[in-house]
Amino acid sequence: MNDNLLQLVKIGKTYHQADEDLVVLHDVDLQVRSGETVALVGPSGSGKSTLLQIAGLLDRSSHGKILIEGRDVSHLNDVKRTKLRRHFIGFVYQFHYLLPEFSAVENIVIPQMVAGVARKEARERALHLLDRMGLSHRAEHRPARMSGGEQQRVAIARALANKPRLLLADEPTGNLDPETSEKVFEMLIELVQSEGVGALIATHNLDLADEMDRILTVRSGTVEKTF
Ligand code: ADP
Ligand code: MG
Repeated sequence: MNDNLLQLVKIGKTYHQADEDLVVLHDVDLQVRSGETVALVGPSGSGKSTLLQIAGLLDRSSHGKILIEGRDVSHLNDVKRTKLRRHFIGFVYQFHYLLPEFSAVENIVIPQMVAGVARKEARERALHLLDRMGLSHRAEHRPARMSGGEQQRVAIARALANKPRLLLADEPTGNLDPETSEKVFEMLIELVQSEGVGALIATHNLDLADEMDRILTVRSGTVEKTF
C-alpha cells in the first residue's frame, strides 16, 4: 500500500470570467500521508477552499494530477468520483449542514445506508461516533435543539460515518466561540487520530493548527511549507 494517502501534483485552477481569467491556484504540490493531520492556513481568498474542493473531487482542477493511495483519479468520470468520494473521503464545513428533520443519530445513519450499510450496523456505528464526540445524551435530538458546538460535533461524527481514509475540513470550528472552537477541534483531532484517518484542515486559528502534525500555508494560490 502507498503511504501517500492524497497527493496533488502541479494542481492549477483558473476561473474564466467575462473580462479576464482569474488564476486561483498555481501549480500546487501537496501530500497527506496515511493517518497524518495537516493544517492549511493562509489569508482569506488565498485559495484554501478551492484547494479542498479539488482535493475532495467536488471540483475539477484546470490542470495537474490527483492521486489517491497512489492511483491517479484525475480523469475519473463523475459517477466514479462520487463513489470514491462516498467511501474514501469525509467532509466538514464551517456550517453543519445537518438535516433538520432528523435526529443526530439518524443524520449519521443516513449516509451509511446510502453507502449500502445495514440499518442496525449503521446505528451502532453512529452511536459509537456520538459517544466519542461526547454526545450520547443528544442522540435522539434534532439539530435545532442542540448548541452550535454540539451541531458541529454531530457533523464531524457524520463525516467519519463511512470510515473514510481522508477527512477534509474547511474551517470546521470557524463559526464557534474561541473556547468551544478549541474543545470541538480537540475532539476532532482525537477522533481522527484514533480512527487512523488522514486529515487536511483549513483553519484561521494558528493555535489549533499547531496541534496538527504539519502546517501548510497558502498564499495567493501557492502552498508553502511552514515546517
Ligand atoms: P479561501 O478559502 O482561502 O478564502 P477561496 O478558495 O474561497 O479562498 O478563494 C480563492 C479565490 O478564488 C478568491 O479570489 C475567490 O474570489 C476566487 N473564487 C472562488 N470561487 C470562485 C468562482 N466560482 N468564480 C470565480 N472566482 C472564484
Ligand atoms: Mg475558504
